[in-house]
Amino acid sequence: MPGLLVVISGPSGAGKGTVCRLLCERSPRALLSVSATTRPPRAGEVEGKHYYFKSETEFAAMVSRGELLEWARVYSYCYGTPRPPVEESLRRGYDVILEIDVQGGLKVKRQMPDAVLIFLAPPSMAELRRRLVGRETETPEAIEERLRWAEGELARMPEYDYVVVNDRLDEAVARVTSIMIAEKCRTKYYSKWEDAVREVGAR
Ligand code: ADP
Ligand code: 5GP
Repeated sequence: MPGLLVVISGPSGAGKGTVCRLLCERSPRALLSVSATTRPPRAGEVEGKHYYFKSETEFAAMVSRGELLEWARVYSYCYGTPRPPVEESLRRGYDVILEIDVQGGLKVKRQMPDAVLIFLAPPSMAELRRRLVGRETETPEAIEERLRWAEGELARMPEYDYVVVNDRLDEAVARVTSIMIAEKCRTKYYSKWEDAVREVGAR
């Protein structure tokens, strides 16, 4: 069975990065896709690990060459998912996690209808603000911009397949893991029951 394509979206500060990191640490079959962006690197961010940092011109060239599975303008920058590594990892049976915004997630679903869209929601707006402030990566103006943007993103939650509230972190990771397990049990992936037996590695 090819891997599962999982999109995780939600407002900035909801905990997408934290949940995805734990998911990948706990599942050797899950890989996090590395996006391209025109946003400048934050302190500690590494080229090729957190993002591929591009100029506007380089990003536009990737778009025109068709190298991005999806791309979107988020806040003041462009962000996009490089297509070849995603397709290659899925083919090799890895689950690929895309931590991308809602516009991007819906574009992915249109192209790859088997993609599973999970919306990660904060427990409250007050907690979202606390997390963004506590992360200490954005200026006060950028925090306000992200909180304004959050309202619009939260309103689009019903367009996603699943919603997971990230209140207690371990509980949120467990829910995302459970969704992935359930998706892999869908009969559409198996033409005969022996294939399902092989997938779970039964004795
Ligand atoms: P996002 O990737 O959605 O912008 P992050 O993963 O960077 O969010 O999380 C934002 C901040 O909130 C980080 O400082 C992180 O440590 C913290 N955080 C994430 N999940 C939780 C949680 N369940 N409870 C409390 N703090 C959390
Ligand atoms: P940040 O600047 O905090 O790293 O990310 C800002 C927003 O851009 C987040 O909502 C994140 O999910 C989104 N994002 C990151 N990579 C991509 C991508 O490849 N495509 C799209 N559409 N959004 C992305």
